[in-house]
Amino acid sequence: MVYPGGVTALAGVDLDILAGEFVAIVGPSGSGKSTLLNIIGTLDRPTSGTVRITGQDIATLSDRRLSALRAREIGFVFQQFHLTDGLSATDNVATGLLYAGVPRRRRAELARQALDRVGLAHRAGHRPHQLSGGERQRVAIARALVNEPSLVLADEPTGALDTANGQAVLALLHRLNAEGATIALITHDREIAASLPRRVEIRDGRLVA
Ligand code: ADP
Repeated sequence: MVYPGGVTALAGVDLDILAGEFVAIVGPSGSGKSTLLNIIGTLDRPTSGTVRITGQDIATLSDRRLSALRAREIGFVFQQFHLTDGLSATDNVATGLLYAGVPRRRRAELARQALDRVGLAHRAGHRPHQLSGGERQRVAIARALVNEPSLVLADEPTGALDTANGQAVLALLHRLNAEGATIALITHDREIAASLPRRVEIRDGRLVA
């Protein structure tokens, strides 16, 4: 991946993420993690090379069809949660289904089920500002999962949390993985990475281990 201006942010990256995996992508600041996340998440197209999601080469898709593929196949979890403030936890989770063609009532039902999966059924009506950081991240995880995506991409999901909440979120991701979710977790934290079954190390835009 070469950015305009000539910065080569990724080179020679060859990475397969298989269904059912829980993989850490670990590297220091500036190593290319965000760039790789944007490429895997199909938010950016690479300047060269091939990206396949569930076998489909994204280069063959128009922007519109790529957006549809992304909405269906990839769930995003961000460091800063990115929840909508005026919406209840249920409605925030339901936004994960907006582009999936699911009718409104069914969306609410699936959102409640997803909140139950992350242990927040009792907070369904709360708005983000009425929730702790750890609870907010669990809502965001429910939103990422509600559509049963092929891959959950979590970018420093514990980065904004204290140790206890961070560990709870990590434990939740482990459980969801055990239940079948495929998860790629991007982090600069070696301790978190060490707790995952597979680690991919990135340095200066190259996978080194
Ligand atoms: P990380 O997420 O590991 O901190 P990044 O993927 O953000 O690393 O950055 C990798 C390299 O690409 C860095 O040298 C950074 O300065 C550069 N870079 C990132 N985004 C852009 C951009 N939009 N334009 C030019 N250079 C960029």
